[in-house]
Amino acid sequence: MLTQTPHTCPCGSEQVFEACCGKFINNKEYPSTPEQLMRSRYSAYVLKNENYLLNSWHELTRPHSLDLSNDSTQWEKLSIISSTENTVHFVAFFSESVNGKENYFYLSENSEFIKEQNWYYLKGMELKTSELTKNMPCPCQSGKKFKRCCASIF
Ligand SMILES: [Zn+2]
Ligand SMILES: [Zn+2]
Repeated sequence: MLTQTPHTCPCGSEQVFEACCGKFINNKEYPSTPEQLMRSRYSAYVLKNENYLLNSWHELTRPHSLDLSNDSTQWEKLSIISSTENTVHFVAFFSESVNGKENYFYLSENSEFIKEQNWYYLKGMELKTSELTKNMPCPCQSGKKFKRCCASIF
């Protein structure tokens, strides 16, 4: 877990971290919507905060333990495509260094959440994981080519 606190929130909301996912990750408030929980879990992956991920995972599907310390995935950007009352469809952009060369990918997933006392992550249905190419339609569904859209963050 990183001890450094980011200034702007990793989830891409352009808000200050403490006013966005930070208040959930630091247990000051509970997310009131699946999208808030989804964003905060993405930020927790960026920050490698295993405790928050496990605590917000429903006990039916929660792994026994989670160790992200050696995970080389570099999470670059989150785009929320759509959400319903208990699901969030998102795209996460990431890079991985293989033999010193950066490779860029995106993951498209539909995550399901369940409300008990609080919202919990139940499971994710992976729709697609693929390498990013300059001329592909941007996975964030803006209608632009990747190179003219989310590529600017890399
Ligand atoms: Zn956030
Ligand atoms: Zn885009």
